[in-house]
Amino acid sequence: VDKFPGYVRNENYKQLTEQDVDHFKTILGNNGLIYGNEDDLFPFNTDWMHKFRGKSQLVLKPKTTQQVSDIMRYCNDQKLAVVPQGGNTGLVGGSVPVFDEVVLSLQGMNKIRGFDNVSGILTADAGCVLEVLDNWLGEKGYMMPLDLGAKGSCHIGGNIATNAGGLRLLRYGSLHGTVLGLEVVLPDGTILDNMSTLRKDNTGYDLKQLFIGSEGTIGVITGVSILTPHKPKAVNVALLGLNSFEDVQKAFKQSRIELSEILSAFEFWDTNALQMFKKHATPKDVMEKEYPFYVLIETSGSNKDHDDEKLTTYLENMMVDGVAEDGVVAQDETQIRGLWSLREGFTEALGKEPAVYKYDISMPVPKLYECVEDMRQHLRDGGVFGQPDSPVTDVVAYGHVGDGNLHLNIAASRLESRVSALIEPYLFEWVANHQGSISAEHGLGVAKNEFLGYSKSPVMIKMMKTMKNMLDPNAIMNPYKYLPSSP
Ligand code: FAD
Repeated sequence: VDKFPGYVRNENYKQLTEQDVDHFKTILGNNGLIYGNEDDLFPFNTDWMHKFRGKSQLVLKPKTTQQVSDIMRYCNDQKLAVVPQGGNTGLVGGSVPVFDEVVLSLQGMNKIRGFDNVSGILTADAGCVLEVLDNWLGEKGYMMPLDLGAKGSCHIGGNIATNAGGLRLLRYGSLHGTVLGLEVVLPDGTILDNMSTLRKDNTGYDLKQLFIGSEGTIGVITGVSILTPHKPKAVNVALLGLNSFEDVQKAFKQSRIELSEILSAFEFWDTNALQMFKKHATPKDVMEKEYPFYVLIETSGSNKDHDDEKLTTYLENMMVDGVAEDGVVAQDETQIRGLWSLREGFTEALGKEPAVYKYDISMPVPKLYECVEDMRQHLRDGGVFGQPDSPVTDVVAYGHVGDGNLHLNIAASRLESRVSALIEPYLFEWVANHQGSISAEHGLGVAKNEFLGYSKSPVMIKMMKTMKNMLDPNAIMNPYKYLPSSP
C-alpha cells in the first residue's frame, strides 16, 4: 500500500538528476549504488510491514565513514533529502522514503572495529547485523546487551537510531546506558568522532545521547562503541500459565523478590497472541492446556545449581499460592530456543495477517491490560469488532511486563479509515491519561509523529524542533517524520 495520506512533497528539495547520480558514482563507484531499477529498489522503498512505500530512485551504499561524509556534504549543498536505512525492520515507517528521498543504506558498513576482552567493550561499524555481533561475541564468552525478534536483519546502528529496547532491557538496561560512544556524520558532512570507550566521562554535554533514538533525523550513525556483558554460564527459561493479569503482576512482583539478581526477562502474552501464533506456525514445548495469560521467565546466572534451586522454589511457591495454574521449565538449549521463538514469533505471525494496527505503549504495569480490555470494548461499541463480518478480527496483546511495555495489535481483514478513526487518538488519550508513553520502544517515524503532544509538552517539542533546525538547517534528513508537522 502507498500509505502516506495527506503528505505533500516539500518542493524545497531538489529532484534527483543524472548529474547527481554521476557525482555519487565518483564517491562510491558504479557498484556502490542502485539507480532506477524498480525491482532492485523495491526492498529499500518498502517497510517490513509492507504498510509504507516510498518512490526513491536511488540507494547509496557507502563502505566508509568518509564516503558517508562526502555524500551528506553533497546532499546538503544540493538540498537532496536523505533517508538513512539500516536493516529496514523498523515498525513505524521511519526507514523508508515518503517521496523520492535518496536512501542511504548502511549495509556495506559491516566491519567489527575492535574488542577489549577485559572490559567487554565492542567497537563496530553501524551496519553490523545485531545477530552477527552477538554470535561473534558469543565465541569470546560475551553477548550483546540487547536482543530482539528482528536480530537476524536489524543493524546495531538502526537499533541505536531507534533506541530499541527488546528482550534483555530488564537486565542490562537501555542503550542510553550501554552505548559508550558514537561516530556520527552530521547533515553537513561533518564527522563527529565521539567513539569513547570510557564508562566514566563527565566532560561537557553528553552529545551521543542526542543521537540515541533520533531516528535518522539529525545525523547518520556510522560507528558504535558499546559495553557488552559476559554470556551467562547458566540460563533457565520457564513458562507459566495464569488465569488473570492480576496473577501476572503477582508473579512479576514475586519474581523480583525471589529471583532478584538472576532474573533476566519477564515477558507476557495473552491467549489471543498464542492463537495468532498457532494460526501461522506450530509452537513447540507449550503446555497442553490453554490459559488466558502466559509469562516467560528467564534467569541468567553463573551457578546452575544455585539458579535451578531458586527457580524451582519460585515456581513451587507460584503453584502453591495459586498464582500460576501450570508451569514448564525448558530442559535443554533446544527447548529454551523453542520457548523464546514463540515469544519472538508474535510480531512475525501478525505480519502475515491482511492488516494490523500496531501500537507499542508503556504505562504503569497495573494499567497495562485494562488498556487492552478497554480497546476491545471500544471497538465493539464502535461496531467494527465482534460480529462475523467485522473488519477487526482480533485484539492481541504481548509485551515486556518487566518494563511496563505493551504491544497492542489490532488485526483486521483490511485497513479501513473508520477503524483507525476509532483507535486514534482514542488510544493515545487513554495512554496520556494514565501517565504512559504513546511509543515505548518502536519510535515515532510517520506512524506516531503527529501525536507526540500526547507524550511531550509544548516546551519540549519546541526545544526538539530548535535542536533539529540547528543540526539540520536544510531539513534534508528523514523529512516528514519524527516531529509533528504543525508549528
Ligand atoms: P531501520 O528499520 O532500517 O531504521 C529505523 C530508523 O532508524 C529509521 O528512522 C532510520 O532512518 C534510522 N536509522 C537506521 N540506521 C541508521 C543509522 N545508521 N544512522 C541514523 N539513522 C538510522 N524494537 C524494539 O525496540 N524492541 C523489540 O523487541 C523489537 N522487536 C522487533 C521484532 C520484529 C520481528 C521486528 C520486525 C521489529 C522489531 N522491533 C523491535 C523494531 C525495531 O525498531 C527494529 O527492529 C530495529 O531497532 C531497527 O533497526 P534497523 O537496522 O532495521 O533500522
